[in-house]
Amino acid sequence: MHDAKPPFQWKYCPQCGNLLKMCFDGENQRPFCETCVRFYYFNPVPATCCFVLKGDELLLVQRAIEPCRGQWTLPGGFMELGETAEEGALRELYEETNIVGRRLRLVGTNTQNSKYSGTVIILAYYVEEWDGIPRPHSDALQLGFFAPNERPPLAFQAHRELLAAFDSGFKR
Ligand SMILES: [Zn+2]
Repeated sequence: MHDAKPPFQWKYCPQCGNLLKMCFDGENQRPFCETCVRFYYFNPVPATCCFVLKGDELLLVQRAIEPCRGQWTLPGGFMELGETAEEGALRELYEETNIVGRRLRLVGTNTQNSKYSGTVIILAYYVEEWDGIPRPHSDALQLGFFAPNERPPLAFQAHRELLAAFDSGFKR
């Protein structure tokens, strides 16, 4: 099952290919390449998600990929190098739902440990304006706008907590 995979760990140097050894960097034991004389770090991975409303109905997507294929989530995903968090949020929103969003406001952040990706920090944005005809793209089986009492359960703990924050305190 997908949840049996351990988090990624450095083992070989990406520069020269030598086996890394654990060395003390002044604070902790870290993977170290003796040839390149450098340490390797495994930092949290940033991701984003979006709150898109139509009236009081919230846009959710049903995942087409693992982990949690077939379950519902807020649209979003991992940031890419070279883009801002806001650009990443809008790119993922478009890739999954065909929606072009504008004017993002930060709802909050959430940090979770993920078996796939180590620690993931999620930045959640409210999309104040959007257009386009919503339809599922590559990463989504289907999507829908759900009234507050009709929402399916969300796959990720981070999304559940961010949704609770959005419902309880966020001024739209
Ligand atoms: Zn090396």
